[in-house]
Amino acid sequence: MKALVLSQTGPVENQPLRLVDLPVPEPKAGEILVEVAACGVCHTELDEIEGRLTPQLPIILGHEIIGRVVKTGKGAGRYKTGDRIGIAWINSACGKCEFCNSGRENLCPEFRGTGCEANGGYAEYTTVDERFTFPIPERFTDTQAAPLLCAGAIGYRDLQLAGMNPGQTLGLFGFGASAHIVLQMAKYFGHEIYVFTRGEEHQNLANDLGASWTGTSQEKPPHPVDCAIDFTPVGETIPDALRVLKKGGRLVVAVIRKRTPVPAMDYAGLLWDEKEVKSVANITRRDAEEFLPLAAKIPIVPEVQEFPLENANEALILLKQGKIRGAAVLKINRGGRQ
Ligand SMILES: [Zn+2]
Ligand SMILES: [Zn+2]
Repeated sequence: MKALVLSQTGPVENQPLRLVDLPVPEPKAGEILVEVAACGVCHTELDEIEGRLTPQLPIILGHEIIGRVVKTGKGAGRYKTGDRIGIAWINSACGKCEFCNSGRENLCPEFRGTGCEANGGYAEYTTVDERFTFPIPERFTDTQAAPLLCAGAIGYRDLQLAGMNPGQTLGLFGFGASAHIVLQMAKYFGHEIYVFTRGEEHQNLANDLGASWTGTSQEKPPHPVDCAIDFTPVGETIPDALRVLKKGGRLVVAVIRKRTPVPAMDYAGLLWDEKEVKSVANITRRDAEEFLPLAAKIPIVPEVQEFPLENANEALILLKQGKIRGAAVLKINRGGRQ
């Protein structure tokens, strides 16, 4: 099978993913073999490639996978051949620790990430424990469904952690794959949305999707916000978001790593008045299980830019440069058979 492999971390501009030919993996007990149809490209992959995270090298990246079951391992009986399933960032958790036992498997010390500690979807096939997969609502195409598995499911967790009431105002900092899905969900929940982003193209998309104000993170919105979610890869937006937050408001930081440090912050000016800062780590299976049917019901329409598997390096560089409108998705096309 064709697969893109990361064997050494370094700047994404060096195009570190190499196209190789590998044997199709065999599903072990409890696993399924999945023929990958589409795989989303996520910011976390930039963190893995550039060494801000430490993936188990060599690794096949990709944790927003849509594919079809082609073979089942011993004891795996959840699906039949041909079923369409999704695979997300959560690849496994121990199921026994205090976090797993309290609905927080995302915090499990043995948490393994797809495309980080286990091979992911930048390939024609992948294997996965069937308990860590999700049925995909029919209304989405393969490429539309892919970003729902991380950008969407994490976005759902972000909104849950924000804990907002209908009618409240939400500020979104950065406007990539996740934020453009969160905006659609937040509108459905009855929130007013301000979007803080630099790119004109991103501001236009936010306006098209129903933001009531857009500007840069330096600009002052019409009113302070009840909650903010920070999706940017830089530390500087954390004080920017706290500055526009109401007293008692909450800032949710939705990224796994920041490329630049969080600046020193004035306690009295930015953090006092019962303001809260909460980070988001990984997702639980329940996040994806609740979010996917909700996404179909709303319905969320992901804006997708498709790339062939071979052009993943290019897609990642464009993502780093902030030049993707919505979400980038690899469409895996087996020798033109599809
Ligand atoms: Zn992701
Ligand atoms: Zn655990």
